Amino acid sequence: MTHSDLKRWLLERNPDTLATLWQQADATRREHVGNAVHLRGLVELSNHCRRLCAYCGLRAANRDVPRYRMSPDEVLDAARQAVRLGFGTVVLQAGEDMQLDCQTVAAIIRNIKTETDLAITLSLGERTFDELAAWREVGADRYLLRFETSNARLFAQIHPSAPGQICDRIGQLKTLRDLGYEVGSGVMVGIPGQSTDDLARDILLFRELDLDMIGVGPFLPHPDTPLGQATTRSHSNDRDATTNDALTTFKVIALTRLVCPNANIPSTTALATLEGPGGYITALQRGANVVMPNVTPVIYRQQYKIYPDKACFYDNTEQTCADLRAQLSAIGRHVGTGRGDSPNRAGRPGAAGIQSSGKST
Ligand code: SAH
Repeated sequence: MTHSDLKRWLLERNPDTLATLWQQADATRREHVGNAVHLRGLVELSNHCRRLCAYCGLRAANRDVPRYRMSPDEVLDAARQAVRLGFGTVVLQAGEDMQLDCQTVAAIIRNIKTETDLAITLSLGERTFDELAAWREVGADRYLLRFETSNARLFAQIHPSAPGQICDRIGQLKTLRDLGYEVGSGVMVGIPGQSTDDLARDILLFRELDLDMIGVGPFLPHPDTPLGQATTRSHSNDRDATTNDALTTFKVIALTRLVCPNANIPSTTALATLEGPGGYITALQRGANVVMPNVTPVIYRQQYKIYPDKACFYDNTEQTCADLRAQLSAIGRHVGTGRGDSPNRAGRPGAAGIQSSGKST
């Protein structure tokens, strides 16, 4: 698919024409990654952050957010809950918290790997080569780092570099790949100042980076951030501007499935926040094949407020999972067993080692 094909789909409004896009994405999903929906337990282990991202409620300058950091034992307990719920993966996500240093994170990974067969995905922001290498060495399997937008000028505006450092997320994604991680990235849809051309380029960059996991969600304004006052069409006199709505997000998910058929693609919490629980299911019928239920202790969940009214804030995770299983079987899908490694990763050198790295002794 070319840039102009992608742009044409992104601008398409006719529901009958769009129905063919949804069908193609669903058929491609079925053929390449099957009917299983993999569940990942999301642990938001710290909301401390040194960065000043213009979109995110955890930005360092936001004094209104009470900060927390889970202890290694609390993280292990959350991983145990993921096992009890039948998940094959735990995702450890946090703000860019420098107290989560190399040794602390390595110890958390070791604890989980010693006790469970879970795959571990890290999402800890921009970190040094030595940290990424050390965490891989002790058993981390995957890493998520969204490039947020392929428009370098827009990215620099919304994601200022840390003092004294040059922010190079694309470079870090390549490093992660060289270290043998399964590599995930993604973007937000409807960032103020983002154009349809940008979104088309984002999707082509997913392919160029040969990503194993691709997360796409709508931008949701947080009132305590510089982009918080943005309305969906703050740039409305530009007919090429994107909107942060569910339809545009569904289009990006469906097109991503067509362009990167073997990637694992989550139905994101941001989409469920915008659309209600039904949003999860619709995305799963338009290309997605992963859901990430939240297993963060409820006492911390509301403080991991990257945007307001996050879908999971008050969830009872057991109930959410039971509902999800019922909804999946109603649409002819089932919960995947095992780790749910990315078929896209399977072809690359070192993949066999990854598959067999389970419980360490
Ligand atoms: N510190 C880590 C994790 C950040 S939270 C990192 O920077 O990678 C994970 C993702 O949430 C971000 O990559 C971003 O795409 C998304 N996010 C943050 N703020 C958001 C907002 N206001 N609306 C929608 N998505 C947001």
